[in-house]
Amino acid sequence: MERPCQVKIEVLEKDETNIRLIIRDVDVPLMNALRRIALSEVPSMAIDEVVMIDNSSILQDEIIAHRLGLTPLKTDLDGYNLPEECKCQSEFGCNLCRVTLTLDAEATEGTRSVYSGELVSENPDIVPVSDKIPIIKLAKGQKLKLEAYARLGKGKNHAKWQPVSMCAYKYFPKIEVPSGKCKDCAKCVDICPKKVLVMKENKVKVRDLLACNLCMDCVEACPQKPPAIKVEWEKNAFIMNIESTGVLPPERIIQEATKILDKQLKEFEKQLKVEAK
Ligand code: SF4
Ligand code: SF4
Ligand SMILES: [Zn+2]
Repeated sequence: MERPCQVKIEVLEKDETNIRLIIRDVDVPLMNALRRIALSEVPSMAIDEVVMIDNSSILQDEIIAHRLGLTPLKTDLDGYNLPEECKCQSEFGCNLCRVTLTLDAEATEGTRSVYSGELVSENPDIVPVSDKIPIIKLAKGQKLKLEAYARLGKGKNHAKWQPVSMCAYKYFPKIEVPSGKCKDCAKCVDICPKKVLVMKENKVKVRDLLACNLCMDCVEACPQKPPAIKVEWEKNAFIMNIESTGVLPPERIIQEATKILDKQLKEFEKQLKVEAK
């Protein structure tokens, strides 16, 4: 019988590129699997091939292609297929697995920078996440004209397809200061690098528990033997931070990571059954 999933998730903060979650009733292997999948398996769109039509700049074609590849592109996961899963199975791709972007820039009046905003995409939804990413500087009279092809890919094949600039988790902290043992010297408050503790009415209080990084400096600084302050962590609760590069909303990245993990586990189960036959 399948056991219902008991994981509890609370969203602490969320904006366009960041999400901070408390995840309870999970263990380290599951958290680590989600983190690794978010980094290396959740697909995103990136420029994968560049056809240079005219390049009279001082940068070589390969360097420009590399810079374009590392320009994050807004991704539509529902509208496009991974090239290896696309029905076309074509080396060039089709309109379900490839997006064409063009650039036609020239410095006519003097030296100028060319920015990502000058890339023209055939799909207005697949464009650089920012218009202000510098691609190249052209001196007067220099030109850059190219056609670039973006495809879905995975971070495990190249970092340009990694949808997150940061994905990390830490244990959920637990801090106790028993008033009987504490001498209120405030050494723990002063040493804390994260300003987790505060003196209130001459007593140590926890001001911002979630900021604690479990460094234990406060415990070491306590002159009491054994230390009056007790810092521990909950074994099955974590704080997870996901910072998207802007290619996908951060909540979509974690949703996709859970779907991929589920698919991988089902596949593993199927293989185990085959082996057991
Ligand atoms: S463990 Fe480190 S971060 Fe946490 S309260 Fe103590 S000194 Fe501050
Ligand atoms: S360092 Fe120890 S004794 Fe001093 S205030 Fe902190 S917990 Fe209390
Ligand atoms: Zn295709």
